[in-house]
Amino acid sequence: MTAISPFTPLLEADIDAATRMFIGGEWVTAQGGETFDVHDPADGRVIAHVPAAQPADVDAAVAAARAALAPAGPWRTMTPQVRGRLLWKLADLVERDVERLSAIDSVDSGKPMDEMRYFDIPFSVDVLRYYAGWTTKITGDTIPISYPAGHGGTFHAYTLKEPVGVVAAIVPWNLPLLMAIKKLAPALATGCTIVVKPAEQTPLSIAALTQLTIEAGFPPGVINYVTGLGEVAGAALSRHRGVDKVTFTGSVPTGKDIVRAAADNLKRVSLELGGKSPNIVFDDADLDAVVAGAAAAAFATQGESCIAGSRLYVQRGVFDEVVRRLGEHAASIRLGRGTAEGTQMGPLISAEHRDRVLDYIKIGIDEGAELVTGGKAPTGQGYDGGYFVEPTVLINAAPEARIMHEEIFGPVVSAVAFDTEEEVLALANNTRFGLGAAVWTKDISRAHRMAAAIESGQVWVNCYQAADSALPFGGTKESGWGRETCRETLEEYLETKTVVVAL
Ligand code: NAD
Repeated sequence: MTAISPFTPLLEADIDAATRMFIGGEWVTAQGGETFDVHDPADGRVIAHVPAAQPADVDAAVAAARAALAPAGPWRTMTPQVRGRLLWKLADLVERDVERLSAIDSVDSGKPMDEMRYFDIPFSVDVLRYYAGWTTKITGDTIPISYPAGHGGTFHAYTLKEPVGVVAAIVPWNLPLLMAIKKLAPALATGCTIVVKPAEQTPLSIAALTQLTIEAGFPPGVINYVTGLGEVAGAALSRHRGVDKVTFTGSVPTGKDIVRAAADNLKRVSLELGGKSPNIVFDDADLDAVVAGAAAAAFATQGESCIAGSRLYVQRGVFDEVVRRLGEHAASIRLGRGTAEGTQMGPLISAEHRDRVLDYIKIGIDEGAELVTGGKAPTGQGYDGGYFVEPTVLINAAPEARIMHEEIFGPVVSAVAFDTEEEVLALANNTRFGLGAAVWTKDISRAHRMAAAIESGQVWVNCYQAADSALPFGGTKESGWGRETCRETLEEYLETKTVVVAL
């Protein structure tokens, strides 16, 4: 449980917090004392040794979360208004600590500081405030019923909305704090208790968030934080009979494992999985906006984004111009350590993942695609030991090429020319995923026709990855089950109880 850090004293303290877990209101180490290493992806150095939770630790966390649901306990007896105030307070604390939390996630995941400052943290704060507002508005219905006559009178029937119970949140490494908050906020708003398990690569910001939940004043056991390997701690949570719901963001294979593990007690499962999002440009579009949007779609968060616009379909008349300008834009992106001033794109999460992304570029070229720019791991000062990959643009991949179907999860975009609306629609929908899609056109009828016909959880028109705490976010097909950041999400954390009273 030692902390090794080359960073500032502030970060030293944060890294120290991540060397313990938080169960039932106590900071603890893993039973048996095992740890795993967390690396800085900008140079490969080990920055912390983090507890590797065993099934017994998961049992303790789930027991603490269940105990905090006791009918007469401080959490169940708390009024919705006070619960909302705690969530609002947590939002204020996250907002107060924007620089600190940005630095932590930037060091841990490689993301540029500015993405944290101007997207992840403000969005996290909004999500907390959005759900803080819902606590007082979760209501059942009074239902007039037509029960057969002869039962001696009339009936008063109503529904109660109750928390589903203990929630296990299994979080990925690409947007660690935001993904945790997207799960924590609706769980707490509905009165559930939670066990949060960060990805093994990025526990630091969620340890810091756990500290803030203590400062906000949540009762012990309501929020538990457990670090561990996916196949041990994540799997133990997924199959645990004391867990009532798993909410997961991550890869499709792990999502399927979780569904299988959850079947034992038929716990509820929400899944935010991968994508292979089509970004479709018609020849009447505003090309300045297209180039900026396509670059952000492909290269934000190093392309380690489930909604990355990795398939770029461009109408033939403007194909050459869009590709040329996108290539120039990609080549101008400043790669570097996420915390360094001016960095526009950071390193990928691990050496293994970098090699996987480089392999995909090679597979794409072997299968017939042409390289426009990028394609390599940069070398030299500032890159040694880090897991960097250049922003990469490929063109002319065949429809059946692997890079047009498999999620690369790196800064790689494949541009392909098309002629007609029908043709591009067929290409766009030729995927097992259905998470994000964008259409760029000035023709309003075509925009709505395309939005209706694309098989996807969200379609953006003349913009890319617009997000808001009130906009449903989630996927169709193998991109997942359920929606986050919206009113409907609350239902996924609630049970409906029907009460019928013979008057
Ligand atoms: P992953 O599925 O390996 O890991 C995600 C989380 O699941 C981690 O916390 C990990 O410890 C845990 N886990 C691993 N094996 C487990 C198991 N058997 N049982 C329970 N938990 C387990 O995913 P990854 O490779 O770390 O993340 C990248 C993937 O996540 C990409 O495919 C990407 O598309 C997807 N993703 C989706 C979204 C979204 O919102 N839809 C957001 C981010 C990432």
